[in-house]
Amino acid sequence: MAASPLLQVRGLTRRYGVRTGLFGPWHEVVAVEGVDFAIERGEIVGIIGASGSGKSTIGRLLTGLDQPDGGQILFDGARIDGLSDQARRPLRRRLQLVLQDASSALNPRRRVGVQIATPMLRLGVATSREEAHERTAELLRLVGLDADAAERYPHEFSGGQRQRINIARSLGVEAECLILDEPTSALDVSVQAQILALLLELRQQLGLTYVFISHNLAVVQSFCDRILVLDKGRLVEDLPSRTITRQASAPATRRLLEANLFLSRAPAAEP
Ligand code: ADP
Repeated sequence: MAASPLLQVRGLTRRYGVRTGLFGPWHEVVAVEGVDFAIERGEIVGIIGASGSGKSTIGRLLTGLDQPDGGQILFDGARIDGLSDQARRPLRRRLQLVLQDASSALNPRRRVGVQIATPMLRLGVATSREEAHERTAELLRLVGLDADAAERYPHEFSGGQRQRINIARSLGVEAECLILDEPTSALDVSVQAQILALLLELRQQLGLTYVFISHNLAVVQSFCDRILVLDKGRLVEDLPSRTITRQASAPATRRLLEANLFLSRAPAAEP
């Protein structure tokens, strides 16, 4: 029997009740509606769409920060939507969210090493302080930082370095799948390229799977194997990155391609 996809969603739906003004009537905003996709182990899948198309909602639903109103989420073949915090614990290790703003994910008052080691100990990946300490040093090297970074505080690092620390922390708990929500959009273009190169190298070494949420089609085209396009909460396109320029049929995809015309003209976009 073929192995199940690492991550799969079926009919995923999330609506929010919002009200106009303080006393206005409530109405429903459809953030995500009837979305289906499957992601295989080792794949890098980009989720793209205009602002408000539902990308971040999907990221929150996948990582359990929010719960769907309808549909299912399966990780490694098992349902993960609607789990209690307790039942979700083992999963928190395997499926990690990496956000755009690396600073907000790190505690400014705690040394970097402690912040990488603590989740390892809490989730039982390291069984002693010594082991956590050793692994922290290894991880810092793996993401291209000196081991002595462990003794320093987040503000002593640049934005790109803080994102490396964030990635090291996710890898410390032996994550298998990273949900990357605009992980590089706060960074300069050259630093962004370095972080993407690091992520590609880590996938190669560790067999990781990435869901890469972005509004930047050019970045997604160069980084991802496959691209899912959202439009007003619906999935309107699911194509390999190398053929999206030629095969896109949804108006939302065409709009994104036009907006990225200069970058999507680059030869790398065509096989
Ligand atoms: P994107 O990440 O593509 O910009 P979002 O997932 O943030 O889109 O939002 C999709 C839609 O859902 C938007 O219309 C947004 O206003 C709405 N939405 C998202 N989160 C909430 C919330 N907590 N309460 C009310 N509406 C929300």
